[in-house]
Amino acid sequence: MPDSAPPSPAPFEQLPLAPAVLANLRQLGYLTMTPIQAASLPLTLARHDLIAQAKTGSGKTAAFALPLLANLNVRRFAVQALVLCPTRELADQVTQEIRRLARAADNIKILSLVGGSTMRPQMASLEHGAHIVVGTPGRILDHLQRGSLNLEALNTLVFDEADRMLDMGFFDDMVFVAKQCPKKRQTMMFSATFPEGVDQLAHQFLRNPKEVKLAERHEGDKIRQRFYEVTNPERLEAVGRLLRHFRPVSALAFCNTRQQCRDLLKVLRAQGFYALALHGELEQRERDQVLIQFANRSCSVLVATDVAARGLDIAQLEAVINVDVTPDPEVYVHRIGRTGRADQDGWALSLASSNQMRRVADIAREVGATLEWHPIAECTPTSDAPLLPPMATLQILGGRKDKIRPGDVLGALTGDAGFTAAQVGKINVGEFNTYVAVAREIAQEAQRRLAAGKVKGKTVKVRILEISDIEQEGKASRANAGIKRRPPPLPGKSGR
Ligand code: ADP
Ligand code: MG
Repeated sequence: MPDSAPPSPAPFEQLPLAPAVLANLRQLGYLTMTPIQAASLPLTLARHDLIAQAKTGSGKTAAFALPLLANLNVRRFAVQALVLCPTRELADQVTQEIRRLARAADNIKILSLVGGSTMRPQMASLEHGAHIVVGTPGRILDHLQRGSLNLEALNTLVFDEADRMLDMGFFDDMVFVAKQCPKKRQTMMFSATFPEGVDQLAHQFLRNPKEVKLAERHEGDKIRQRFYEVTNPERLEAVGRLLRHFRPVSALAFCNTRQQCRDLLKVLRAQGFYALALHGELEQRERDQVLIQFANRSCSVLVATDVAARGLDIAQLEAVINVDVTPDPEVYVHRIGRTGRADQDGWALSLASSNQMRRVADIAREVGATLEWHPIAECTPTSDAPLLPPMATLQILGGRKDKIRPGDVLGALTGDAGFTAAQVGKINVGEFNTYVAVAREIAQEAQRRLAAGKVKGKTVKVRILEISDIEQEGKASRANAGIKRRPPPLPGKSGR
């Protein structure tokens, strides 16, 4: 079947990269380029400006990080590259990925400048010098205005997830920041979609850019799509039916509005599901905890709006649930593309009411297939056991500031505490807190033994992070009062 075989993947060795960089890529397990990398790296390593369209999880970070690193002069203690990202999580993800890619060279300083933390420590870090800055537009602007960030030596500017930054109202900040950069530079812009604002920014700040557009196509057979007709009153209850029937370890439930998120969260919690919601009104620490628990498999369902969920990189996702039909068929394709990654199958389950059939028809046209309809009554529970996440999260009060590293936590659990590495999941070390996922059955005992023992030679406080600890409701009023930039409503807000 040579016809249907995918084009043979391109090795990184084809690229003009230093041997140490290539060796590091091999060590990271990056053997071949992802399609966006293969299409863009030959251009960006040759210092062309770039505008690229690529979806989440396609390997964009390396696509801009490798050229940016190739142009770095480590002996020059000045900011030479700036990456703008929409949110703190994305900035953190990008910072971590650049750190891993930068391991081939010594002493490259990468600094993340995001809102939600105080300015002063960031200013101190800037004084110590950084080669690469990754940050959110608002915070970068603050630093520029105070004079704590100097971009005179900059040679590379990256807009990561440009459309999302626009969604968040960052247009003016982005323009301001770009204007502070030297004219002679390389600019790369990545965006999943191309709304007018992205076009406008590209025209203003890119010079003869090369364009790379990878049509967003999912391998259809890996994502199994099903539609269920429901009435509006039964819609939220139906989500629980889907969960009890399909029993995904992790599911992402998309709502069209924040109010629907709040309502669904209540219904799911009342039904005993380990559910969390992601919305713009959470405090930064709460947001981090939500994402960590979902990614480390301590939470079964994450309820979110498109704006809150876009750009998040979650590797294993058994199901995407469209609680409501999105008015934009392209958004549908984005949503379901979250599942069925890598070698796994995924379910894309959609609830639609009879008055939404026009939107559903648009979706059918967009995906170019006839949709499979099933009666919701068919979704009966497939097990008597409650749906529980396999892991639980322990929060250790201590983090990077205490020089804790993931290995210290793993060592403490598998050493003195006597657990096996298989019982330990993801470890996230933050500035002041560390989160470690452990098998749900051992959570109590692991908490007790960790607290009784030592991490990095020190006694630490440890607690089990309960889903119900993250207070997710009733804060709307507080946040509404203080929120600075609220994302605009989703398109077609006239729909229910
Ligand atoms: P995006 O920014 O497009 O969402 P990322 O750059 O975050 O994607 O990459 C997604 C994941 O794929 C990351 O975990 C990254 O380490 C991994 N990755 C990126 N490029 C490669 C590659 N060539 N081979 C293997 N894994 C890769
Ligand atoms: Mg990214």
